[in-house]
Amino acid sequence: MLIIKDISNLQSYLNAYQNRKYSIGYVPTMGALHKGHGELIKQSKKDNHKTIVSIFINEKQFSSKEDFENYPRNKGFDYDFCIDNEVDILFEPSSEEIFNNDEKIIKNKNFKDMLCDKFRKGHFDGVITVLDKFFSIIKSNKVYFGEKDYQQLKIIEKFIEEKYKSLDLISIQTKRHEEGIAYSSRNEKLSKKQTQDFISFHIQTKNFISSLEKSLDIENANLKANEFMTSQDVEKFEYFEFRNNTDLSFIGSISEARLFYAIYKGKVRLIDNLKV
Ligand code: AMP
Repeated sequence: MLIIKDISNLQSYLNAYQNRKYSIGYVPTMGALHKGHGELIKQSKKDNHKTIVSIFINEKQFSSKEDFENYPRNKGFDYDFCIDNEVDILFEPSSEEIFNNDEKIIKNKNFKDMLCDKFRKGHFDGVITVLDKFFSIIKSNKVYFGEKDYQQLKIIEKFIEEKYKSLDLISIQTKRHEEGIAYSSRNEKLSKKQTQDFISFHIQTKNFISSLEKSLDIENANLKANEFMTSQDVEKFEYFEFRNNTDLSFIGSISEARLFYAIYKGKVRLIDNLKV
């Protein structure tokens, strides 16, 4: 595996790949890799001749310096993880080189003022601003994102439709632990007790979803979701609501919906979404 830290070096390898007509799959990450990332890499390896993973903790998508500084970092492990998963290139550029004093922020116009966008103002502007940089550097054939961050996936889908029409976006189902919670870099920050509480919250949420009548519409399901949340011992949550799978609206029947949540365990913010 090649570990490349600067753009010009990366581009000379990419040129060589393109001359050989290799297809390139790209998996953007913020590191602290886990089996969820592994699923994206596996699919890219199936689909392409070469797979590039980037590790870049993008300061622009964090609303506080504290959250940015506390984001899990696990470099040595990440290198081993990429080697074990037979990644071809690990691209790990510096923030200085990626942004190169360019202060321009791309404003996201889609799926606004709802879910994570409502609580993390500017977060998705930061996400698409950095992806714009990486997409234009890497020019891969395909790019891989997880359903774990479903609103992000929908926003990127629109961004790619608008600006990178020839790039194929491949979405990957959420990889879960046996107990049901999703693999997430942030889980590392949970204590044993918090992990246990989170697992039991997740199990109760799943049971709650299964208890709903299939004929319910999304609005009525949300009344029940509010009731359910008042019965839960969760110190802090931002949202817990059903939305339409396709347009993230409140319109439609529950069978077309997903339940989205963002809750806190201590200082750790945990998001997930479950297909009904
Ligand atoms: P991150 O490093 O958290 O920015 O995530 C990088 C990519 O991995 C994003 O496309 C995520 O949606 C995806 N991802 C994170 N966790 C999971 C998971 N448990 N299953 C599948 N994909 C995931």
